[in-house]
Amino acid sequence: MKKYSLAIHGGAGTISKAQLTPKKELLYHEALQKALNVGKYFLENGGTALDAVEFSVRCLEDIDLFNAGKGSVFGNDGKHEMEASIMCGSTLNAGAVAGIRNVKNPIQLARMIKKNTDYVYLHGSEAENFAKINHLPFEDDEYFYTKERFEQLQAVKHSDKVILDHTDVDYKFGTVGAVALDQHGNLAAATSTGGLTNKRYGRLGDSSVIGAGTYANNETCAISCTGYGEYFIRTVVAHDVSCLMQYKGLSLQQASEIVIKDKLVKMGGEGGLIGVDAIGNIALVFNTEGMYRGYTSSKNTELTTKIYGD
Ligand code: ASP
Repeated sequence: MKKYSLAIHGGAGTISKAQLTPKKELLYHEALQKALNVGKYFLENGGTALDAVEFSVRCLEDIDLFNAGKGSVFGNDGKHEMEASIMCGSTLNAGAVAGIRNVKNPIQLARMIKKNTDYVYLHGSEAENFAKINHLPFEDDEYFYTKERFEQLQAVKHSDKVILDHTDVDYKFGTVGAVALDQHGNLAAATSTGGLTNKRYGRLGDSSVIGAGTYANNETCAISCTGYGEYFIRTVVAHDVSCLMQYKGLSLQQASEIVIKDKLVKMGGEGGLIGVDAIGNIALVFNTEGMYRGYTSSKNTELTTKIYGD
């Protein structure tokens, strides 16, 4: 069997042992394992990196523990507006979508944009129309309601404050993502999010921005990010890692550390990324206390999942 690698994340932030009950911790590990298993199935059986990342992310979008799909946070208007993107490392084709409501799996829509249009990036009600024409599943508002997220909105609704997935005390980003190398030597990356609690004015983050939250290039790496989106856009994080590898000859780990632990920190940007390179090395780098993350590969087929710093 040729090499494959898969890594996923469920958001980074201030995640300390004191904040998670053992029961909740277990739920996160189980959810991450489930998503890893989904992607691994494709990769083990000679499937594509694109399928692996799309379906791993879809799996995380269906679990309300994460700020994507079903578990998306509430905007100031009490609605859920989601965004997602996906990129293929062999063709450099990409699909992205933002500002959409009620679409069950935004990553599926991003993939469909990549596949069925000449466009890269669609937004809003017209993107929803495109999803309808292509018979993608929709869900009503009730499906996206979670008590915890609703309470998070109530805590800040009447202020200008936006929060990243949780309150300041439990400060974390629940965006989800996946990166993969398949047995054909192709890389792919996918990211999906509900954005920021209490966001207004059509605010968009990095998760749907190709080059910022998501990037894949067979010559270098596949990257999916999570963190304070404004900083990730300004630093063009995912593409920056790829450039450091391509033009400076850095390893995936070195490049990721420079961007996440140096450049972003100097600007005040919190978050992390997952990456895989063309020979299957995996990087899981963050400047926050923790990051929900997991990985597996042909070299070590076990599923490893982690939450806190090493
Ligand atoms: N990056 C996302 C955003 O800014 C948030 C996250 O990673 O949870 O919308």
